Amino acid sequence: MADKLAIGIDIGGTKIAAGVVDEDGHILARLRRETPTTDPLEVIEAISSITEEFRRDHHIAALGVGAAGFVDASQSTVLFAPHLAWRNEPLRDSVARRTGLPVMVDNDANASGWAEWRFGAAQGEADLVLITLGTGIGGAIVIDGQPYRGQFGIAGEFGHMQVVPNGRQCECGNTGCWEQYASGRVLMRRARAAAEEGTELGLKMLAEAGGIDRIEGSLVTQQAKAGDVEAIEWIAEVGDWLGVGIANLAAALDPGMFVIGGGVSDAGDLLIGPARAAFSRTLTGRGYRAEARIVRAHLGPEAGLIGAADMARLTARRRRPANPGARARVRAAAKSSRSPRRRK
Ligand SMILES: [Zn+2]
Repeated sequence: MADKLAIGIDIGGTKIAAGVVDEDGHILARLRRETPTTDPLEVIEAISSITEEFRRDHHIAALGVGAAGFVDASQSTVLFAPHLAWRNEPLRDSVARRTGLPVMVDNDANASGWAEWRFGAAQGEADLVLITLGTGIGGAIVIDGQPYRGQFGIAGEFGHMQVVPNGRQCECGNTGCWEQYASGRVLMRRARAAAEEGTELGLKMLAEAGGIDRIEGSLVTQQAKAGDVEAIEWIAEVGDWLGVGIANLAAALDPGMFVIGGGVSDAGDLLIGPARAAFSRTLTGRGYRAEARIVRAHLGPEAGLIGAADMARLTARRRRPANPGARARVRAAAKSSRSPRRRK
């Protein structure tokens, strides 16, 4: 049992979700904290107190962190996290020093993609692309059963592919980015505008939320599931843009499966049906090629922490000699190779 448990920590813009995860991807214990967004030291402090608490009841072999930001290719440094005020934060080494555990840091979407491949919707697939539709769009690529991070660690930032020249302004500074057409933010904007205009659907959502700036995209999903035709249409439109972007990704990467996760995927077939239709309509070489499957993620919002824990556990195991005998031999060899130098 000794090497089989790892802690997974998912650091989002507003909360830290943490769990003790076993080698089958099951979560044995959970903790949640608010994210202290201003100071990286406070986040490290929170991680270390969570770790201490878990260690009271569990023997932990490794710790994995999934963070909403750009993580360098050596999985040690958060280069940039728009919601966390982190710039070039050497998170891995700081957390390793505080906890004494082997630590791995990755982008939260990469961690989710890994979890879906190991334990979720994409088990048995060689190549997959994960697309998470939350406020924006996150993504991850697994090729030949390995996470693909790119030369600089930034692969999978699909949300900022330009799909409309001179299109809607994006928070990243460019215009026409995919996430300005296919994300929860789109639904939220439409819902708030409808509430301001006083349309029937808008007023329904306003009553539910109790204030225009409290209306979130999830309310649209709720209304659509309850059968509101306009809400269904809005989600279908997002699905349509989703399918167009997926066809572009298929042209570039040609995976066997696209896994759709994130809060907007709660809409299920109301979203994925139109996405499949737009994908088939837009795909290059359609009719003369096999088409990738588009499926909903299985693991829900805990995919990130499950994947981070699993990657950390596997990485720690790879770095250690396979058995204690081998470890002793390595130590003996190191000692004998050092001793002649020492005698000089
Ligand atoms: Zn953008």
